Amino acid sequence: MNLETPLVYVKGVGPQRAAMLETKGLVTVADLLHYPPFRYEDRSNLKSIDKLAPGEMATVLVEVRATKLPVLKNKRVGLFEATLGDAGRMPLIGRWFNGGYLAKVLAEGMRLAVFGKVEFDTYRGELLMKNPEFEILSEDDEDGDTTLHTGRVVPIYEAAQRVSPKMMRVLMRRVLDSIPPIDDMLPQSLRDQLKLPDRWTAIQGIHFPNEESDIRLLNAFRSPAHVRMILEEFFWLECGLALKRHKAREVIGIQFALNEQVREKIKAMLPFKPTGAQKRVLGEIARDMAAPQPMSRLLQGDVGSGKTLVAAEAAIIAIENGYQVAVLAPTEILASQHFAYFKNLFNKLGYQCVMLSGSFKPKEKDAIRRLIASGLIHVAIGTHALLEDDVQFHKLGLAIVDEQHRFGVMQRLRLMEKGQKPDVLVMTATPIPRTLALTVYGDLDTSVIDELPPGRRPIITTHVASPRIEEVWSFLQGEVEAGRQAYVVYPVIEESETQAMKAAEQMYLMLSQTVFPQFQVGLLHGKLAQSDKEAVMAAFKQGTTQILVSTTVIEVGVDVPNATVMVIEQAERFGLAQLHQLRGRVGRGGNQSYCLLVTEKLSETGKERIRTMVESNDGFYIAEMDLRLRGPGEFFGTKQSGLPALRFGNILRDSELLEIARNEANAFIDHPPSETALRQAVAYLREHWQRRYGLVLVG
Ligand code: ADP
Ligand code: MG
Repeated sequence: MNLETPLVYVKGVGPQRAAMLETKGLVTVADLLHYPPFRYEDRSNLKSIDKLAPGEMATVLVEVRATKLPVLKNKRVGLFEATLGDAGRMPLIGRWFNGGYLAKVLAEGMRLAVFGKVEFDTYRGELLMKNPEFEILSEDDEDGDTTLHTGRVVPIYEAAQRVSPKMMRVLMRRVLDSIPPIDDMLPQSLRDQLKLPDRWTAIQGIHFPNEESDIRLLNAFRSPAHVRMILEEFFWLECGLALKRHKAREVIGIQFALNEQVREKIKAMLPFKPTGAQKRVLGEIARDMAAPQPMSRLLQGDVGSGKTLVAAEAAIIAIENGYQVAVLAPTEILASQHFAYFKNLFNKLGYQCVMLSGSFKPKEKDAIRRLIASGLIHVAIGTHALLEDDVQFHKLGLAIVDEQHRFGVMQRLRLMEKGQKPDVLVMTATPIPRTLALTVYGDLDTSVIDELPPGRRPIITTHVASPRIEEVWSFLQGEVEAGRQAYVVYPVIEESETQAMKAAEQMYLMLSQTVFPQFQVGLLHGKLAQSDKEAVMAAFKQGTTQILVSTTVIEVGVDVPNATVMVIEQAERFGLAQLHQLRGRVGRGGNQSYCLLVTEKLSETGKERIRTMVESNDGFYIAEMDLRLRGPGEFFGTKQSGLPALRFGNILRDSELLEIARNEANAFIDHPPSETALRQAVAYLREHWQRRYGLVLVG
C-alpha cells in the first residue's frame, strides 16, 4: 500500500464505503491522510465507574444494561435514559435531553465508550452524565483496538455519509500502519528556518496526537503538526502562483506605444477631470501595456468609483496602436450599458463599437461577428456570447473583463486566446479582502481606485420594517417630486427569476396604479426580451420613467446619476455583497442619495447584515464582514471562481500563516537554495498542484 492506493483496496472499505468516502473527495490513501479531524476530544482520563469523581471529565467503557424514555404526567418529554455498567457494582446513568431518537440507537447489551462530565444526583443517589458523547463499540474486530477510541486524545472526523467518525479513525490507523513513511518534499531550508516537524511526524500528529499534545492547540489548529501542514499547503499554493507570475513575465506580448497621439486622444475623450486615484491607476495600467509582457491586472474599486472611465482610457491606448478591444460583461443589461457608455465616449474619436449578446437573432450575430473579424470594429462589447468559438478578432490587443467575480478563470483564458497574447484588465466592484486576493487572484497584479469622484455624498441607509412601508412611499414621493428618480428592487426567491418577476410585476401594478398613479413607473426583469429591457432602461435613463421596479438584474453596473433612492424589498434575503452592489446604483451624482432596506423577518445574521449596511458605506469593510458571516466558500459561490480547495488551511483563520507562506514561496522561487531544489519543487507542483488545489496551472 502506498499514497496512491485507492481506498477501495484498504481493508474494511470495499465499493460501498469507497463511494461514501468519495462524496468527501476521498479517493486515495493520500486523500484520506489529508482529511484532518475537525476537533479533538480529550478522552485520556479513562476510568472505571467506581473511580469516577463528580465534576471531572472522564471516559468510561460500559455496557448498556437498560434504557427508558421517562414520561412526565403521561407525556413523553424527549428524555432518554440509559443505565450503564461495567465490571464494578456501581451503575452510571446516561441522560440525554431531546434524546428520543436514541431509543432506536442504543439497546441493551451494547458496548459503549461514553465521555462527559460526571455529576452526582444527590436526590437519587446516582452517578450521572448529562448528554455525554458516546461511541458504540462493536463486537467484531472492525473497531480495531479500543485504545484508538479511548484513553487518549481522540480525533473527531466529519462523517462521510455512513462512514462514521469512529470508522474514519480505524481506517486512518490502518492506513498509517500499512504505508511506508511519507517523504518530505518541503525544502529543508524552510523546515529548518520555521522549525517545522517533518511531514510524516506531522501527519501522525494530526490524526493521533501523542500524550504531550496540548488539546487547546490541537482544537485551534495550532499544534506544531497543524502549523506544518497548513504552511505546507499554503507554500505550494503560493509557489504555483509565483511560478505562474514568473512564466507570465517571460511571455512576450504586445508593447504598446504611449505617444503624444495617445495622450491627445485620451484628453479629447475625457468628459471630466479624472480623480487622483483614477490617474494613478491609469499610470499603472499604461506602464503594463507599454511593457513587453502581457498585462494581467486586477482593477478593484468600490461601486461608483469610476472604473469604466479608466477602462476606456486603456482601450484608447490599444486602439491607437492599431489593436482591437474586447469588453466582457456578465449580464446583457450591463453589456448594453457599457456599449452605450463607450459609444458615447468614442464617437468623437471615430472609433467603431459593437455589442454582441446571446439573445440576438442569428443573422444579426453573424453580421456582427463578420465585422469583428474584419477588423473594422475597434471595440466589441458583449456577454458570454463573446467567448464562443465562432467569434474571431482581427487583432485583439486588450481584453477587459468587468465584474470579474462573475466569471471563472477558464472564461478569462478563453477570451485571451482570441488574440496573440493580449493584455488583460479585469475589474471588480466586489472588493476582495486581501488574504483572499492573494490566493484567488494571486497571479494578477492589483490596482485599487480608493477615491470616489468629487461631490459624492455618502449614501444614507435606513432600515424599515415592512409594516412601515407607507413611510417609504411618502419619502419616495418627496424625492420624485423634487425631480429625482428611484429604484424598487425585489430579490430572486429560491433562485427563480420567474417568482421574482411575479413579485416585481405585482409591485409594479400596485405602485403604478394605486400608490403613484401620478408618476411613470417602469418594470424590468430578466424575462423581458432584450429590446424591451433596453427600452425600459433607456426610458429610465432619460428620466421618462421616474420609478423603476426591478428584480436584481440591475445589480451590477447600472448607472443613472439622477437616481437617488434605492428601496430594497425583503432585504433580509440578500447577501451583503449584493446589498452593497444594489446600493451602489444610487449616489452616482451630486445629490444626497438614500437606501431603504425593507425587511419582513430577520434572523440573527440577517440583523447583522442590515446593521453592517446601515453603519458603513465602505465596500472593503462590507466585504470583510461578508466573508466572516458566510465563509470563503460561499463568499465566492462557484468552484470555478478560482478559490483553492484547501484541506488544512483556512484563509480566514490562518491568514497570518498564508502571509508567511507567500513570502517564503516568493523567496524560494526567486532565489532557490539550489537548482536541484527548484527542479524538484517544480516537478512536485506539476504532479500535485492542479489536483490538490483545483486550480489551473497554465503552461
Ligand atoms: P464603477 O466603478 O462602479 O464601474 P462607473 O465607471 O460606472 O463606476 O462610474 C460611476 C459614475 O461616475 C459614472 O456616471 C461616471 O461617468 C462617473 N465618473 C467617473 N469618473 C468620474 C470623475 N473623475 N469625475 C466625475 N464623475 C466621474
Ligand atoms: Mg462598473
